Amino acid sequence: MERGGALYFDWRFILPVLGFGIVLLVFGEREKKTNSARQFGALFLLLMVLCFSYTFTGISLSFGTSVTSFYQTIPRFIFDELRPSARADVGFQQSVAPKNNIVLVIDESIRGDHLSINGYRRDTTPFLDNLSQNTDLVRNWRLAVAGATCSYPSNALILTGVRPGVDEFRMVETHPTVFQYAKAMGYETVYMDAQTNTFWNGLAPDDLEYIDMWIKAKDLGDDIQSDFRAADWIAKAVTNNKGKFIVLNKRGVHFLYENSYPADIETWRPVPGEYTSQPELVTNPYDNGVLYNVNTFFERLLIDLQILADTTILYTSDHGQTLFENGVSWLHCNYTPMEATIPLLMLGRNLPASSDENFLASHSNILPTLLDLMDVPDKFRLYPYAPSLFSPAFDVAGERWFFDGSLRLIEFHSP
Ligand SMILES: [Zn+2]
Repeated sequence: MERGGALYFDWRFILPVLGFGIVLLVFGEREKKTNSARQFGALFLLLMVLCFSYTFTGISLSFGTSVTSFYQTIPRFIFDELRPSARADVGFQQSVAPKNNIVLVIDESIRGDHLSINGYRRDTTPFLDNLSQNTDLVRNWRLAVAGATCSYPSNALILTGVRPGVDEFRMVETHPTVFQYAKAMGYETVYMDAQTNTFWNGLAPDDLEYIDMWIKAKDLGDDIQSDFRAADWIAKAVTNNKGKFIVLNKRGVHFLYENSYPADIETWRPVPGEYTSQPELVTNPYDNGVLYNVNTFFERLLIDLQILADTTILYTSDHGQTLFENGVSWLHCNYTPMEATIPLLMLGRNLPASSDENFLASHSNILPTLLDLMDVPDKFRLYPYAPSLFSPAFDVAGERWFFDGSLRLIEFHSP
């Protein structure tokens, strides 16, 4: 655990703390009476500097899980609450009713190469394997590249179509979200979050204007069966219905992995007593989690395959996971390719061709694909997004990039 802690340590965190210390020395204890007022003033000054650095210069002074991150969160929270939305308006409204339902499922911490549908040695996704072999209802882009290795930037990129390596990350605050396009195309929009009861993934309260229904973790039970209740809800909502646009943030398989499934269904054993000292055992609880969570989710969602007549489902994960391989002692939010390795599947009818090659697709292809599924005319697309999965050009985009947890741009190399 010491090694794990050291990886989150960043010497630069000393700078703002040092600044605070100097301010205290200069303005601090001279007369007992005004002592607390002066100290409060010094703290206020520090908060203003952190706020200013983030808001006006774009420089984040929060490095790692340090004291400054805590303090910076306070002014950032206050300012973000007060700041009006900077998102562009999509500027059109279709009057024709939508002809389909669209469901985007964003899983949590699911590494693409641990799904048997992608050739993994253990049968972690038997339902999907069977469906892809016996029907024409599945297209698989196999292993794809995440936009980021941390949940917040990754989700923010997916929902806005901002492209790592081409666009600045800050565009996630100004680009319209996929919900705006869906509303403009006449869809009834639903945002489901099996993880929290607040916005955490790049959406802000102003975005609620384009979300007709917000289903939170507490509405889904907030336990290891939340994702299954979400699946049941979606299946019911799209049955004999058209015009639904649903985005689900799944609960997925989060560390500690053995907490994401009931102990009595354990297939692969043993579970490591201590993750960092027994890295060779980490895949056991992780794969149990994938089998329980991901496989059961699709079984419940597709209990009646008839829903795919009018519904297209796009499935991915926010990021991968290191699984402590190659001596690595962190989970994700860093720079290794396995953290950026995610699945990308489409389920439905009249699907585009997919490729057997890995890493041709990325998160950047998702928003333009959703716009195609909605039939958004080209003239109404506000930015030059990445190619859609329906476009034959999508696999010739060249190099791939992703953001790490500190929003540093990393070039992706196949592991
Ligand atoms: Zn995540």
